[in-house]
Amino acid sequence: MADFLYHQSNGLSEQSVSALHSLLAELKHPLKKGNRIGIKLHWGEKGNRSFLPPVFAREIVQWLQALGTKPFIFDTTVLYSGSRRTGEDSLRTAAEHGYSETYLGCSVVIADGMDGRDVVDIPAGFKHFETVQVAPVFDQADGFVIFSHFKGHLASGFGGAIKNISMGFASRAQKQRMHADVHPILKKKKCTRCGICVEVCPTGAAQFADDEYPAYDLDLCIGCAQCIGLCPELALEIIWETDNQIFQEKLVETAAAVWKKIKGRSIFINAMLNVTTDCDCLPGNNPVIAPDAGFIGGFHPVAVDEESVKRVGAEAFNKTHPHVNWRRQFSYSREIGFI
Ligand code: SF4
Ligand code: SF4
Repeated sequence: MADFLYHQSNGLSEQSVSALHSLLAELKHPLKKGNRIGIKLHWGEKGNRSFLPPVFAREIVQWLQALGTKPFIFDTTVLYSGSRRTGEDSLRTAAEHGYSETYLGCSVVIADGMDGRDVVDIPAGFKHFETVQVAPVFDQADGFVIFSHFKGHLASGFGGAIKNISMGFASRAQKQRMHADVHPILKKKKCTRCGICVEVCPTGAAQFADDEYPAYDLDLCIGCAQCIGLCPELALEIIWETDNQIFQEKLVETAAAVWKKIKGRSIFINAMLNVTTDCDCLPGNNPVIAPDAGFIGGFHPVAVDEESVKRVGAEAFNKTHPHVNWRRQFSYSREIGFI
C-alpha cells in the first residue's frame, strides 16, 4: 500500500466534499463488511468557529455504510470546564454543531462514559508512561477511522492524527498527566465534600481531614490525576505548565500506546482546511495561518502528520508558535519505534 493518498481542495465546500469522496474511493483500506467502525473526531468547543462542519463526517459515514460496515462517531470528555467536560454537555455541543445522529446517520457516543469514568489502562512501556489511561473503545470497534482537523496548536505546535489518538483517546486523568507533573491542589471554596476524589484515589493519598475537607498526602500521591480529572466541581486545580519538550514526548507516548491497539485496522484522514492558529477547543474565530490544502489519507498517524506538515508548510507553525518544538513529535516517534 502507498504510505498515503492526497487530494487537493479549497474551502469548506462541495468541492472539498467531493475531494474527500474521491480519496475514500481510492483508499485501499483494511475494513471489512460487517465490521463495527469507530470514527474518532472533534466536533468543536462551544463558541469555536473553525471546527470542521459535519458534512465531511457524514461523507465518511456514508462511505463506511456503502462498504457494509457499521460506523459510529465518538469523542471523549475533556479536562477543563466548558461545553465538553461531561458527556451530556459534549453531546449537546455536538448536536448544536450539526453532529447529530439524524444528520450523520449513525450513533454519536462519548467513549469514556458520560461522567468520564469508563476508562482502561493499556501498556505503554516508555520513559514517561509505563501505562496510559484511555477510553475502552478497542473491543467496541473492529476498526477505526481517525478523522483529524489539521491545524495549529498552542502546546503541540500543530494538531493532527498523533494528537487525535493521544489526547483524543485519553481519559481526563491521562490528559492531565500529559499536561503536567501532577499533584492535587484544593480550592476549598469550590469543594462540596462529595468524596469522589477520596473514592477514586488508588493509593489512599486522598482522605478526609479533620476539617472535613479532603487532604492529599503527597508522600503517597503517585500523580495519577484521577482526583483532578473526576472532581465534578473543578475544585482541584488543573495545572497546565510543563516543559514543552516533555509535553510533546508524553503526547507521542500516549499515541504510540493507542497505536499498538489499533494498527492494521485503522485509517487516518487529515483535513488541511481552515488551518487555524489554534485547536477547536478554543472559542472564537481563530486566524487562518495557511491556505487550504485538501485531504491526506493513510495508515500511520506519524506518516500522515509529517506529510500534512509538508503540504501546509512548516513555516506556518514556526511563525505562529515559535517557542514550541513541534518537530520533537517526529524525532521522538522515531526514537521509540513509533514509525
Ligand atoms: S471530588 Fe472535588 S468537590 Fe468532591 S470532595 Fe474531592 S475536591 Fe471536593
Ligand atoms: S493524583 Fe492520584 S494518587 Fe494523587 S491524590 Fe489524586 S487520585 Fe490520589
